[in-house]
Amino acid sequence: MMRIFDISMPIHPDMPVYKDREEKRPQFTITADHPSHGVRETRIGLDLHTGTHIDAPLHMVEDGAGVEAYRLADLITSCKVLDLTSVTEAIRREDLQHLAIVAGDFVLFKTRNSQRPDFDFNFVYLAADAARYLAELGVRGVGFDALGIERNQPGHETHKILFAKEIIIIEGLRLGPVPPGEYRLIAAPLAIQGVEAAPARVLLIQD
Ligand SMILES: [Zn+2]
Repeated sequence: MMRIFDISMPIHPDMPVYKDREEKRPQFTITADHPSHGVRETRIGLDLHTGTHIDAPLHMVEDGAGVEAYRLADLITSCKVLDLTSVTEAIRREDLQHLAIVAGDFVLFKTRNSQRPDFDFNFVYLAADAARYLAELGVRGVGFDALGIERNQPGHETHKILFAKEIIIIEGLRLGPVPPGEYRLIAAPLAIQGVEAAPARVLLIQD
């Protein structure tokens, strides 16, 4: 039987946003409504790193590729959900070395972040040495269950190491109910052109 996990965050004005910053909060404005216009129309003001989203190299690299450069064939693919729920601070190389990760994998890291409904200022992040390990292995993509893949790392090394190897970064996943294992990943970023990130609906299919 096919099982579908929606691992995206619902988007609404009270959702968790990065470091609880007010300016990151989605703004919903009803521009027309039934009593006056006979229809409902809503405009949303949305930071492109809201909720579940895909980062493109342009986020960290001047003249880097925008999110439209990703091919859907790289975002609709097999993937591995890996259990890192015992990590308390940062995922490091030694946390990954015993896991079955090989070249070409698209890996999603399930951490204790997936248990927190609110923004956790001490969220588990991916340390630079772990990013370097994944780059050496030659993974295709990394999905992470926090609004950032790193927190306050000077120079944004984790992003830069992954982007230098054209590794796709998905942030803001919700993996709470998902058992570790192999799935089909469907990650569809909004087709916004020339920008450094795009919100995405991300699904896991288990056959
Ligand atoms: Zn981002």
